[in-house]
Amino acid sequence: RRAAEAPALPAFADGGARRMLIGADWVEAASGRRFEARNPATGTLLATLPEGDAEDVDRAVAAARAALDGSWSKAKPDERQAALLRLADLVDTNYDELAWLDTLDMGGPISRTRLGRKRMVGLLRFYAGQATALTGETIENSVPGAVLTFTAREPVGVVGAIIPWNAPLGMSVLKVGPALATGCAIVLKPAEDASLSPLRFAELVLEAGVPPGVVNVVTGFGRTAGAAIAAHPGIDKVAFTGSHVTGQEIVRLSAANLKRLSLELGGKSANIVFADADLDAAVPGAAMAAFANSGQVCSAGTRLFVERSIYDDVVARVAAFGAALKVGDGADPQTQLGPLISARQLERVASYLDIGAAEGAHAVSGGARLTDGAYAKGFYVPPTVFSGVEDRMRIAQEEIFGPVLCVIPFDGEAEVIARANASMFGLGAGVWTRDVGRALRVARAMKAGSVWANCYQLMDPAVSFGGYRMSGYGRESGARHLDEYLSTKSVWINA
Ligand code: NAD
Repeated sequence: RRAAEAPALPAFADGGARRMLIGADWVEAASGRRFEARNPATGTLLATLPEGDAEDVDRAVAAARAALDGSWSKAKPDERQAALLRLADLVDTNYDELAWLDTLDMGGPISRTRLGRKRMVGLLRFYAGQATALTGETIENSVPGAVLTFTAREPVGVVGAIIPWNAPLGMSVLKVGPALATGCAIVLKPAEDASLSPLRFAELVLEAGVPPGVVNVVTGFGRTAGAAIAAHPGIDKVAFTGSHVTGQEIVRLSAANLKRLSLELGGKSANIVFADADLDAAVPGAAMAAFANSGQVCSAGTRLFVERSIYDDVVARVAAFGAALKVGDGADPQTQLGPLISARQLERVASYLDIGAAEGAHAVSGGARLTDGAYAKGFYVPPTVFSGVEDRMRIAQEEIFGPVLCVIPFDGEAEVIARANASMFGLGAGVWTRDVGRALRVARAMKAGSVWANCYQLMDPAVSFGGYRMSGYGRESGARHLDEYLSTKSVWINA
């Protein structure tokens, strides 16, 4: 497939002026303002984008409402299914370009972004299947007379979706897919740092025959366009993925009309390696659980608990694994870890490297940003392994969102379960052991929305994903995802 070959710049990232989608039209922001999209590996200008704000959100909500009140509400499940299947085929056909856009726009290596084809197409086909499988129920009631009760499942209405930059295409699919399957209309706001693949995806949505207005994309910043979505009285539900701090703000902003919310937030996920684990699997598994996508993964396994008898060995092996990863421009097919997304994120991650050192942890590998040669043009931090980490340290408690792994010793099963659960987050967890009974016990004990045993970060359209605690609420993918986009109506018929 082409994606492995020379990094031909997609026309969509040629430095030109892109527009955003409201109704049937590709438009400028009402303010006329634009902002830049730059490649975090090189600083190259990829595009300029409309800086949408509250006025544009208003226009997009009106377009979404008009679509809902028009033909879209009459579209039968099989029509919505057909549109999703056409969209899945278009994403498949255009996948190389979409993967390139994510690589250029957010830095993820092409060796990684190109692997997303099966998941993206599979998710859209999964939602297509669900579109014709929506059911209500009849309920035997005990009221006097012959009164029939049944439930109808109805689209929640206009959805506002606010997504982060770390998986721009995937997040777009995870919001637009269920909206189309349920008959909702949607206003999608990509992250200001990665809007290109969401905009190209929206072109494919129209090409798939989805009526104009059903999917709208407003590009712009969180504090303006994002906040306007969260507060908008014409939006019935917000589907948000991002940090817990922004999630809290969205809860506050959305309170005025008591929007339905689903919040997919951050994490500080624990990954536990017992002495009986197959270390040839656990070492690369644990390293990539933390380093993949340069650590910019919500469920990254960044607290690595290792049984004391194998602690020194695992620290050395994980550090060596990290040090051998090829860090560089994601457009190079050999690159395994790309740059961080932005100067701001670089400052943030670098500050945690200093905090770790000041707290008394020891950087066994990495530990300082990369600035030599080509690295000077981008935002690079090498895979960093801290040993000597204690639970109380900030680097062991706070989400860093960079390639930083804290390795922490433990002595027993009950102890490590308690310590792994001592986090305000609860997104993912991992356990590595040859003892199946122990794997099951630990999996059941973890306060986390996903637990992986002898693997990490596996995902499937049919399996739900989401958080406990401050990692959020609501679930994405899986058989129950569509519930988040549906309202249940009880109907009483006095026969
Ligand atoms: P962020 O919270 O800064 O931004 C996310 C989105 O919210 C962006 O589109 C941004 O413009 C918008 N936003 C910012 N301030 C806003 C406001 N006041 N009102 C409305 N919208 C606002 O997060 P980020 O830095 O883009 O992404 C990283 C975070 O996302 C991490 O915490 C990561 O763990 C989390 N994440 C979670 C999941 C998941 O599925 N649980 C997946 C990916 C990323």
